[in-house]
Amino acid sequence: MAGTAARGKVTIATLGSHCALQVLKGARDEGLGTVLVSEKKRLDLYQRFSFIDEIIEVNAFSEILDDSIATKLRKKNAILIPHGTLISQMSSDEIEKIKTPIFGNKWILRWEANREMKEKLLREAGLRTPRSVRSKNEINGLCIVKLHGAAGGRGYYLAWNRESFEEGAQRLVEQKTIQGENDLYIQEFIRGVPVYLQYFYSPLSKHLELLGIDRRYESDIDGLGRIPAKQQLGAGAEPSYNVIGNLPLVLRESLLDEVYKMGEGFVKASERLVAPGMTGPFCLEGVYDSEGRFTTFEFSARIVAGTNLYVDGSPYSDLLYDEPMSMGRRIAREIKIAKKKGKLGAVVT
Ligand code: AMP
Repeated sequence: MAGTAARGKVTIATLGSHCALQVLKGARDEGLGTVLVSEKKRLDLYQRFSFIDEIIEVNAFSEILDDSIATKLRKKNAILIPHGTLISQMSSDEIEKIKTPIFGNKWILRWEANREMKEKLLREAGLRTPRSVRSKNEINGLCIVKLHGAAGGRGYYLAWNRESFEEGAQRLVEQKTIQGENDLYIQEFIRGVPVYLQYFYSPLSKHLELLGIDRRYESDIDGLGRIPAKQQLGAGAEPSYNVIGNLPLVLRESLLDEVYKMGEGFVKASERLVAPGMTGPFCLEGVYDSEGRFTTFEFSARIVAGTNLYVDGSPYSDLLYDEPMSMGRRIAREIKIAKKKGKLGAVVT
């Protein structure tokens, strides 16, 4: 990376949303500077936290592409931590044009955003994935219909035949959520329990760490069980999958060996397909079925919001560290070690 950050104090920068608080708290805990790029509407929230050294106000997050913001960040030796809001609000082309050094591999974010590339990487990693259904005429059994991009489950619906697919699509068109059926993606619905595996891969030590596990709390699918069957039928309840928050989870210990192997398979596959590979935080997202088999329906190639649960460490990070180690703090620790070794170039792109 450019020489300046290698010399002065490093500042951790991120966008005001998603997991910004945890990331900047972790940076402060590691003695690094912190800067937040925030929209005006969120200033009230973020001004409450004393570990944020400076807030750069913007009208839209895409302003981080502007020279004036890039210069401000460069003067602070900033390294930008990408998260879900960056992915959902900026295109892959825009993200790749950001001049501020990005922690991890910015090229792999395109693989997260693009459905075909995503499936290719999951297959290359040897992971079990849900069958994707190419056309509404091929729906055979329960399917989940998704929107492209990181929409946080918003707008997803279930379909079991052509008619139920078309009905759902029509609803989304009327709500102006999509323009037409081509904006939808159909995938086999996996029965079981959803689980999110939070990993960190260090390009410096070449070790994979499992730092936490969570499940999402989604509205209103996770509330439907509170309505008795008779009333559900009467009300014609249509579930939605909008993420509201996250709940902590630990797995049966006998499943952990496979969890590590799946993560390592993913790291190796990413090294083959998209140099320099999957460095830093990432998440494999899937469903454990009744046989204890994991099917991966998604990955996130950057920090996920479920890590916000573990600001003070998780049952898994506690097994690896004798101090509270959030994902945000782990990122800052990697940057600190890289700087000390003169290897910042290995942790940013
Ligand atoms: P996503 O935005 O892809 O992470 O999915 C949002 C939610 O939809 C997940 O947390 C799951 O509850 C559900 N989901 C996604 N894909 C599948 C699938 N193939 N089978 C079952 N549930 C799924």
